Amino acid sequence: MRRSWQLGGELARRAGERLVDHVSRFELCSLSPRLVRYLVTVDVLCLVVVFLGVLELPFRFVDLLTFGAFVLLGRLAMETSRHLGAPGRRKDEPHRDLLSTWTLPVTLLLPPLYAAVLHIPLHCIFRSRVAPQPRYKQVFNAAALGVSGFCAASVHRALAPTQGPYRIDTLVGSSGRIGALFVVVLTYIVLNRILLHGALWYAHPRPARRPFAGGGREILAVDAAEMCSAIGLAVLWTAHPLLMLTATPPALLLQRSLLHAELLQAARTDAKTRLANPAYWREAAEKEVLRIRRAGRPLSVLIVDIDHFKRVNDQFGHLTGDAVLVCVADALRAATRPRDLVGRFGGEEFVIMLCETDLDNAARAADRIRRQVAGMRCRVNGQSAGVVHVSVTVSVGVATATGADVDLPALLETADAALYRAKADGRNCVRLAAGVAPHARTAT
Ligand code: GH3
Ligand code: MG
Ligand code: MG
Repeated sequence: MRRSWQLGGELARRAGERLVDHVSRFELCSLSPRLVRYLVTVDVLCLVVVFLGVLELPFRFVDLLTFGAFVLLGRLAMETSRHLGAPGRRKDEPHRDLLSTWTLPVTLLLPPLYAAVLHIPLHCIFRSRVAPQPRYKQVFNAAALGVSGFCAASVHRALAPTQGPYRIDTLVGSSGRIGALFVVVLTYIVLNRILLHGALWYAHPRPARRPFAGGGREILAVDAAEMCSAIGLAVLWTAHPLLMLTATPPALLLQRSLLHAELLQAARTDAKTRLANPAYWREAAEKEVLRIRRAGRPLSVLIVDIDHFKRVNDQFGHLTGDAVLVCVADALRAATRPRDLVGRFGGEEFVIMLCETDLDNAARAADRIRRQVAGMRCRVNGQSAGVVHVSVTVSVGVATATGADVDLPALLETADAALYRAKADGRNCVRLAAGVAPHARTAT
């Protein structure tokens, strides 16, 4: 009797440990309560739509076959994308794998339940092997895509009703039905973006790592290509499943074109801080200068240099120094507008182009940046000392020109001269090319 009590206690203890282990794999403890609430809401919403989907499911064996085929194709696409990828891409960076090319046809062809559950195998089983993520992210992604797929498939049923499975005539038999396909795909993409951005917003109310100019256009082009290929695949499937063989080479080529976009981004980016590198900064800045000259508007350049950065390296080591550089880069990005051009010029020196900004506003922006950096404490996981908090200050040189007078080399030269004066005047201050901003002077 006593032995069975002991055995029961041991089993309960192990079950408890396993439960704690399972829950801890969701890594929710590190998230803010409002983000957790948001994630759980979307997960529950997905359960609700799955329940609704089951209630209205017309069971057909052929639907199961179609579902299985597209899960398999999606899995193959993931595996292919694993072997492609720009060198130097970080694990924490979003990576497009064109998976929707293979999953959107399920939304277009099958009852809504299939679209609601499709991403459970793809995200929670397969993707965890391809690109390991915390469990809560896998579940949230599957749920957000499931909700979007369910809603989009329901819209399709309403716009292009059919009794049995979709055939080529019920799918694209009239211009109204073709139009419905585009509406469905747009619904899917927009809903998914909204749900995803909700999570990003709760995670980072002010995104620190936004891509610089060009990223948005690239994303739109990829979305459009994904949408059109998904529609093409759905049509081919209804014409004859064997025709999918003809779709594979173009789909692979599309996947490779993403690699080109990634390489282009890598070539423009400073690997450490993810800011624009000097070559790309100059290229983009020259374009902006031409526009500003034509428009006759003002333009300002700030050169920002971290004060006594060598001491940070000497005191905490170069790896901590690197983390501080990233911290300062994020602060610069957060303190500027999306259209301003922020770059790393090398070492601990950054350059910012403030579009359509006159001297007064540039001085104000520069001082805001200086105060923001000075008030920041970079939390760094030091090598031997554990977690350390490092504070740094910056000195800023500002130069401005207007309309036809705008000349990039001259602006950089005068901003650099102003930076030298800021250093000479005691650091942690802002100096303007043509004098000292009265409000910007701060003693170290
Ligand atoms: P000042 O206030 O005059 O600018 O002093 P400073 O120490 O910041 O300037 P200095 O030019 O004397 O030293 C710059 C230091 O920046 C030296 C170099 O080791 C460090 N550095 C440059 N690039 C990197 C980098 O990528 N990572 C790290 N950790 N340190 C860097
Ligand atoms: Mg320095
Ligand atoms: Mg320097």
